[in-house]
Amino acid sequence: MFAKRISQDSVIIGTPAKVNLFLEVLGKRDDGYHDINSLFQAVSLFDRITFTRIRYGSDISIELTNDADVPVDGRNLIVRAFRLMQDRFGLTDGLQVQLEKNIPIAAGLAGGSADGAATILAVCGLWDLGLDFSQMAELGLEIGSDLPFFFTHGQAMVGGRGEKITETDFPTDYWLVLATPDLHISTAESYAALRIDLTKSKIPFSFRRCKGLRQFVDTLEHTGNDFEKVHLGSFPGLGRIKDELLDIGALIVRMSGSGPTVFGLFDSVPETKSKRLFGKETGRVMVVRPVTLPVRLP
Ligand code: ATP
Repeated sequence: MFAKRISQDSVIIGTPAKVNLFLEVLGKRDDGYHDINSLFQAVSLFDRITFTRIRYGSDISIELTNDADVPVDGRNLIVRAFRLMQDRFGLTDGLQVQLEKNIPIAAGLAGGSADGAATILAVCGLWDLGLDFSQMAELGLEIGSDLPFFFTHGQAMVGGRGEKITETDFPTDYWLVLATPDLHISTAESYAALRIDLTKSKIPFSFRRCKGLRQFVDTLEHTGNDFEKVHLGSFPGLGRIKDELLDIGALIVRMSGSGPTVFGLFDSVPETKSKRLFGKETGRVMVVRPVTLPVRLP
């Protein structure tokens, strides 16, 4: 996350979307969560959030500064993260939030988690709570499995249900085209649909010796996204989007998270304008790059 203090009581945070360069679901745990094995990469698509500490009342308010269909009540992960921190640290002041929502919602890009993580970072800074980043990640995990990743530099192998994080240093010299079709795929339903698949054997692969982009892509080719197989069957449009991305030169085409966003990975600037690509079915299309992020308090 990028964080900037703009006054004693205000910070602005840019919090990124992530893609899953690969994603394996390993099995269901006793606590009901699933263990995963995934390579997360932050990309150059940010929600921009201004947090202001309010020294009268203990309420939180969220104002959307652009047109986004996201709840601003107790369902919002910003509210949930703030309430958790109020309870945990006995905070009595309130919080005013202005949210510029740029990350597509419920799209497999973890935009809600990114906002929840930004809230934890902002509150730690504004209240001077003295937490380190691993403590912030632990708090984040209480809100959602994807939150801890956002306290890294932006690229990590993620295991467990999201709490086992190993930062990595793989190439970032590529472009991604994100295509987010207008399909409603809930994460919970995606996991439910996966259940029958969980006994399958895992493909062995190693990233250890990846040097340049070519090798990295070759290794990624041996991986996949376990949700993709499930959704391709139910939503044939996703297969057509994949074909279109391959047509314009993507080296790898894959679903992110539990979808429906599909990304294409390119070794040069992708030509998204000239083709029949990106018709109605393709939905929202964005060209982004991997980003490396600072990890510091505002
Ligand atoms: P993941 O990749 O972790 O599965 P996602 O990208 O599919 O997540 P999100 O955009 O994080 O999904 O949102 C999922 C749900 O969370 C939506 O139903 C949305 O209404 C709700 N939500 C709560 N807070 C937010 C927020 N700040 N931004 C976006 N969605 C939010």
